[in-house]
Formats: sequence, C-alpha cells, structure tokens
Amino acid sequence: MSIQQLPLNSGKHIPQLGLGTYKMSEADTLRSVGYALELGYRHIDTAQMYGNEAAVGRAIAESGIAREDIFLTSKLDNPNHRPEDARRTFTQSLEDLQTDYVDLFLIHWPLPDKYGGDFISTWKVLEEFAADGRSKSIGVSNFQQHHLEELIEATETVPAVDQIELHPYFQNVGVAEFCRENNICIEAWAPLVRGIIVAEPTVAAIAEKHGCTPAQAVLAWHLAKGHVIFPKSVTESRIRENFAAQEVELTVSDVELLNELDRGEAGRTGYNPDTMTRSI
Ligand code: NDP
Repeated sequence: MSIQQLPLNSGKHIPQLGLGTYKMSEADTLRSVGYALELGYRHIDTAQMYGNEAAVGRAIAESGIAREDIFLTSKLDNPNHRPEDARRTFTQSLEDLQTDYVDLFLIHWPLPDKYGGDFISTWKVLEEFAADGRSKSIGVSNFQQHHLEELIEATETVPAVDQIELHPYFQNVGVAEFCRENNICIEAWAPLVRGIIVAEPTVAAIAEKHGCTPAQAVLAWHLAKGHVIFPKSVTESRIRENFAAQEVELTVSDVELLNELDRGEAGRTGYNPDTMTRSI
C-alpha cells in the first residue's frame, strides 16, 4: 500500500498518513514505531516534549529502512524558545534521533504570554536549521490565525505546516481556512479525538455502510479533506487498521455528515493556544 504524498510550500513532500507518538513510553515507542515501519508507515511524528526521541531514533535505526525513505518530524519544547536553547536542544534532538536532519521541525506552542510574546526570534532560529539543511522543512503547531499573520509579516518563511487540533468535533474552521488560503499544510492532531469518536453513532453508520471500522471512517474523512494525520496507537491491530484507512473512500455526503458533527470551541479537547502557558 503506497502512501499519498502531499506537496509542502518548501518544495518537499509529506506522506499524508503517519504514526503519532504522544505519551508513548520508551518500550511502546520502540515496539510501535518498529511495527509501523515494518507495515509500511513512512512518517513518524515525535517531539522533544514526548521524551521518546531516542526510542524513535533507535526504532528507525533498527528498521533497516533508509533514512531518506522516512519522513521524521520533531518539535521544539516550550522551555526551549530562546535562540540559544533552541539551537542547543535541536542539536540534541538530532543526536537522540540518530540522524543528521529531520524532515520537519516545529515550534510546538506559540506561548503568547511567555518570552515577552516573542516567537519571531525562535522562528528565525528554525530558519537557520532550514538554511543549513538540518530541517528540510520548518513549521509551527497550535498557531492561531493571528500568530500566523504575525509570523508571515515579520519573517521570510511561511510555515510549511500548522499542526493543530482538528477532528469532526472541533474542526478549527478559521485556522484551517487561513492555512488553505496561504498554502500552509494542515496537520490534524488528535484525529480520532483520542479514541473517543469511535463511539459516535453517525460515524458508526458511515462505517457500517463502507464495511470499515469507525476509526477508519474518521481517518478517511481527514484524508478526503486533505489533512495530514498521524493517529497514535500502541496496539498492533489498530496500527494496521489505521494504515488501511487509506483504502476507504467516503462519498461527498458522508464527508458532509461528518462535517455536521462540529461543536465549535466546545469540541476542543486540548489547551487553547491563546491561553496555553504550560511548562516554562
Ligand atoms: P489520537 O486521536 O491519535 O488518538 C489516540 C488514542 O486513540 C489512543 O488512546 C489510541 O489507543 C486510540 N486509538 C488509536 N487507533 C484507534 C482505533 N483504530 N480504534 C480505536 N481507538 C484507537 O490522539 P493523539 O493525541 O495521540 O494525536 C495523534 C498525534 O498527534 C499524537 O500522537 C502526536 O504525535 C500529535 N499531537 C500533537 C499535539 C501538538 O500539540 N502538536 C497535541 C496532541 C497530539 P492505543 O494507543 O491504546 O491503541
């Protein structure tokens, strides 16, 4: 099964489906990333914050798959926004990941009320990583429209992606529209609402119609809408199931039915990026 590749504004391509690793222990990361790569996954999403970069690096090294065949993303942790900290910890990330480069490096959260509201200096350091080839593309995560506007206005590089919470219950419509208009690829985190959405009756009905599982129906919705996704699972059967979602083709009316599940702000499960102030 070959994975659809989407173009990024950096000129690179990203596999539309990958594996997320949030809250995976070291042992689970080693096992799950190894299994996913064996199955055909070629895109892994990690972060300094997850504490599992070394395990991701080891799983990739042990897979025997050529580094250039894998799309690897990591993210700058919240305490590391100051330029010297960003440079030092990025170098450490590469070392832990056992690689000379990542395919994508993101500012994890904008933290508007920390560092004097300055994420521009941090972004300029990511531009250095792109210029020296140690990050093939650079992007942001949890940036609202106003953060993106500020960044685009003040710097040379439009982020290749914005990794944002987005799923049928919280479709993050304003940010998603702004990304589409500005050629910023949308990466949807918590694509399965952390597993909760499989109990949704509308999803179950669509799944039954297509002879697929509820999770596959939701992942197929993301794929149809052009989102990049990396559902997280430590369960082999689910890692397999999620990968096979690429084979499910929803109709336009199925997509519309799932669009109607949007609860707006009430559907958000994670922190609001405008008030997220954790961990510095
Ligand atoms: P997901 O929506 O991917 O849900 C993960 C949960 O769903 C796990 O509990 C998993 O269980 C369960 N699950 C996975 N597959 C299935 C399935 N087929 N059927 C039923 N349940 C299933 O949530 P995440 O928060 O993990 O988001 C995905 C990734 O996005 C993260 O891993 C991370 O890489 C990224 N992320 C980024 C954030 C950011 O701020 N930039 C924030 C949050 C996530 P189990 O593992 O037990 O199988």
